Amino acid sequence: MSKQKRKIYEALNWASSFLKEANRDDNVGELLLLHHLQMSRTQLFSNMRMDIDTEIDRKFTEDIHTHCNGVPVQHIIGYEHFYGRTFRVNKEVLIPRPETEELVQGILQRIDKLFPNGNRVNVVDVGTGSGIIAITLASERKSLHVTATDIAKESLAIAKLNAENLETEVTFIQGDLLTPFLNSDTTFDVIVSNPPYIPNNEIDKLSPVVKDYDPMRALAGGEDGLDFYRRFMTQLPYVLSEKAIIAFEVGVGQGKSVQSLLQQTFRSAVVEVVFDINGKDRMVFAEIS
Ligand code: GLN
Repeated sequence: MSKQKRKIYEALNWASSFLKEANRDDNVGELLLLHHLQMSRTQLFSNMRMDIDTEIDRKFTEDIHTHCNGVPVQHIIGYEHFYGRTFRVNKEVLIPRPETEELVQGILQRIDKLFPNGNRVNVVDVGTGSGIIAITLASERKSLHVTATDIAKESLAIAKLNAENLETEVTFIQGDLLTPFLNSDTTFDVIVSNPPYIPNNEIDKLSPVVKDYDPMRALAGGEDGLDFYRRFMTQLPYVLSEKAIIAFEVGVGQGKSVQSLLQQTFRSAVVEVVFDINGKDRMVFAEIS
């Protein structure tokens, strides 16, 4: 690189073609530059001819190369946005996906319908990872009392940090699925989970950005991807309140199977498969009342 400083638009153009050549999303250039310049998009676009400080440009260039080598941009910058908030992420947790925002929205709508009077509602998010579901629910509705569990203390450390940063009250418990509550009096009005659901034979086909960086314990769902849902069915009846909501994120094509698992377990429940904005079956909700 020449000693002369690059202007913002020059750095963006370079990044865009470099990323395209490496078959990566070319929007990542803008995202990384915003991060390094600590600017909003509006500021960036009104300063296109501004010189970039040499040190900042060096870091930006290095990050573009790192991303082209496969490292997800969220691991480079250390955060991702979810439902309007910023969450810290690292290799111990699944990077938040936009589909999961739709799950949260679906839960909030159903809570408002089934528990409209603002009384305390007891919620648990099972396998919370970075804490996005639990923390978003607790932030969006103050009447919710939210617990979050995860089998890994490494994930809980990030989730706790996120709850602290976002000044949200969530109770964190380490444990396997709902096991921590089986021999207690605790019951929940809302049980939500985005469990690992990728079938074994699809793990190899995942993009390296997913397979090599999202933790395998957050992805692999057994032979047909449904192992965790089946295990849930053996525990759910013991920890649900009489009137309750169950909300699962599912993998494409799993909606019907998870629906029938829930229907067999809760005969009188209204169980619904909901498609995401990309037209994929992505959520299954059960309402028990
Ligand atoms: N949605 C993730 C993916 O497709 C998988 C998350 C999960 O297994 N819960 O990579």
